Formats: sequence, C-alpha cells, structure tokens
Amino acid sequence: MIMRYENDLICENLSVNNAGHLCLGGQDVEVLAKRFGTPLYLMDEDHIRARCRAYLSAVKDAFGGRCRVLYASKAASYKYIYEIMREEGMGIDVVSPGEIHTAVCAGYPMENAFFHSNNKSDDDIRAAMDAGVGYFVSDSSEELLAIDREAAARGIRQNILLRLTPGIDPHTFEAVATGKVDSKFGFGIPTGEAEKATKLALSLKNTVLCGFHSHIGSQVFEPDIFLRAADIMLRFIALVKSKYGFEAPMLNLGGGFGVPYTAKNPKLDIPKTIGEIGTFVGHLSDELGIKRPEICFEPGRSIVADAGMTVYTVGSVKEVPGYRTYVSVNGGMTDNIRYALYGSAYTILPALKMNEARELTADVVGRCCESGDILQKNVLLPRSIARGDLLACLTTGAYNYSMASNYNRVPRPPVVMLHGGEATVAVRRETWDDLVALDL
Ligand SMILES: *Cc1c(COP(=O)(O)O)cnc(C)c1O
Repeated sequence: MIMRYENDLICENLSVNNAGHLCLGGQDVEVLAKRFGTPLYLMDEDHIRARCRAYLSAVKDAFGGRCRVLYASKAASYKYIYEIMREEGMGIDVVSPGEIHTAVCAGYPMENAFFHSNNKSDDDIRAAMDAGVGYFVSDSSEELLAIDREAAARGIRQNILLRLTPGIDPHTFEAVATGKVDSKFGFGIPTGEAEKATKLALSLKNTVLCGFHSHIGSQVFEPDIFLRAADIMLRFIALVKSKYGFEAPMLNLGGGFGVPYTAKNPKLDIPKTIGEIGTFVGHLSDELGIKRPEICFEPGRSIVADAGMTVYTVGSVKEVPGYRTYVSVNGGMTDNIRYALYGSAYTILPALKMNEARELTADVVGRCCESGDILQKNVLLPRSIARGDLLACLTTGAYNYSMASNYNRVPRPPVVMLHGGEATVAVRRETWDDLVALDL
C-alpha cells in the first residue's frame, strides 16, 4: 500500500521526490544531511525573502507609504538573517544587547531597529544608544527615566514608544499571551497606567514620544483579535489627543500572526488580515478625528517558522511492551525545547520513507538525560523505521535555534540556508572545543 503524505506537507516549500525522499525548497533532505551532518537546521532562504516581500506589499496596499514591517528577530537571530532583513528593506525588533550586537555585526542600519524588553538595564540602554538604535519601546517608568537620563548625558533626544497592554485575551497559550492586563509586559490601558506613563513620557526633555505599541501574543489565528487591539489602541490615541494635545504619529500593532505546525492548525491569510486592519484603521481614525498613524507590524514566527526544518538521525527504536515505542534521535530539547516548554505540536516525518505506510505510533525523544526531553508524542512512522533513518521535524525556523542550549554539553547544530538550489552555512556547527572556549 502506498501511503501518501500530502496532508502533512503543510507548507508549499515541502515536496517528495521520486526516491520517496522529503525535499525542502526542492532540495533532497538526504543529500543535505550527508553533506552537513545531523542534527541539522535547514532554512529556506527563498521562502524567508518571499515572506518579507509579501508583508511589505500587503502593508503598502493597506496603508500606503506610512507603514513598516519589523522582523521580530528573537524568532531567529544570527548575522545572516539580519543581512536578509537589510537587503529586503525590513525593520527589525531586538530585545537585548546581544541581538543588537549581532545586527550591528551584520551591517544592519540600526536607525531602523526597535528595542524591546520589559527590563532594560542602564548598561543595555547605553549599549543600544552606542549602536544608534532608532526607537526604544519602553515598558516601565523607571526605564523611561533611565533612558531620559542617558540621552541627556549624551546631549541627544531619543525616540521612544510606550508598550501598552490593551487588556484582551488573544485565545492562545498562556505562556505566549502578552496582551492581558495581568502581564509583566507593558502599561495597562484599562488600569490607567498607560495614561500615567504617557504623561510622564510627555514631560521628559530628552526623549521624543513617537507613539504606542501593543503585542497581544503569539500564534493568533483570529483576525478579529488584531482588530480589537487596533480599536483599543486608536481610542487611546484619541483620548491622549483630547486630554494632552499629543497626537501619536506611530502605532505599532506587534506580531503574533499564526503559523500552522500541523495539518490540524488553521491557516491565517496574512495579507488579507492586514488589508482588513488597514480598512479598519482608516475608518476608525477618521471617525475619531485623528490622523492615521504610521502603522508598524512586528512578525517573527510568520517570517521564519515554516522556512525551517530540523533533520535528525534515528539511534534506537525501543518498544516498552504494553506501553509505547520510543524513537530516539541525536538531538532533542537542546535544539528544540518547545514541546518540553509548552507542549507545542510539530509534524515529524520519515524523510527517507515518505511513500511507506505509517503504522507505528511512537514518541520521538531526544538524547538528553531528562525524561521530559520529548520532541513529540504519538508520531505516526513506518514500521521499518530503524537506526540510521532520518526524521524531519517541520516548522522549526522560529524559536528553535534562538532557544537552543548546550545542556548535557551537546553542541548546537549548524544553520544551513537554501537558496535557488544552493546551500550555504549561515551558522557553523559548534565543536567540542567551542564548548570549553569559555572555561578558564
Ligand atoms: C515575540 C514578539 C513579537 C513576534 O511575535 P511572533 O509571534 O513571533 O510574530 C513581536 N513583538 C514583540 C514585542 C514580541 O515580544
């Protein structure tokens, strides 16, 4: 019986060739695994660039010239990605001096960078100003005062936005919901904190308040939720205009656009959603009597997630009679902690046996000394799966490499970019010597 995998080819850059091998961006995963070794992060660069262009053209259609798309670089942060963003004319969002340094090393023009984080230390603030970061997105009154002090010491006026929490529940997983009032992020609009912070920001002499920011959470599939956030934010802009005479020129609506990880996830039509937000923002701004602000979006996951795939080699297939079968691979929570951390769903495919029937249900587990080191439970695999087989975990382009660790002194895999039928190492594989490089 030939079992087909069409349903599991959840992104258009996936295919199966005549040999029954899984391909990413048209390249046979087996060939890449032989050339670069496993575990291996693959990234379809053509797909990343196509996503950037799709976003840029959608916001241009929806908002005319007054809009920006910022790549939320915590999703995947290394020099090569910032080079792509520079070439594609994308802004970036950074959350630490480490990300800032990486972007600077990639020659990224930092005036287009927005610096987030709910806790920027004085050193962080200095490092960001040294790098010439364009905008600080501020999250607390202590931080506002610290930014103002540092800008004063340098004789500059620093552009800032205030991060606000609109107080809505994005119907996503608790750990990735950020727009609720009870959150470590932002100043709450419903609690009055947002208005207080605005008053404070407007009183500072060395900062320029450019507008407001909200990010409601991640893996949002309902377009409505973005409209509700835009509604609350625009009404806040109108309130600030009427009470304090300040009309915010910029509104950053954050990221969070959902990406399918399995055939069960819905597909969000991002250009269509942005179009709807554009219409909504236009009408409501007119109704409220405010100028249409420059709109920013900050997608991370939806730029890089389904460009990525992780390739592993199977080591053992262990059946525990009466319980389950464990298929162990040569990576795990060190390169993908998301199942262990939030129970994230992933699609895992037998990269060399795509045409075989899948009759074995198994838990795919990692190599770490940790029972929680699970990549995914109840994965359907061919009965013939055995030592030396390749497994491909799909949609690992976001929050995998950037969350990777050296637990158990496991070196991190390389990141290989696929473009136009070629493959380029963007981040090399860590060596055992790298692991002791910091040990004195
Ligand atoms: C993480 C984050 C994003 C990106 O979220 P995605 O779900 O990856 O699109 C955008 N803005 C802020 C402030 C974030 O913290």
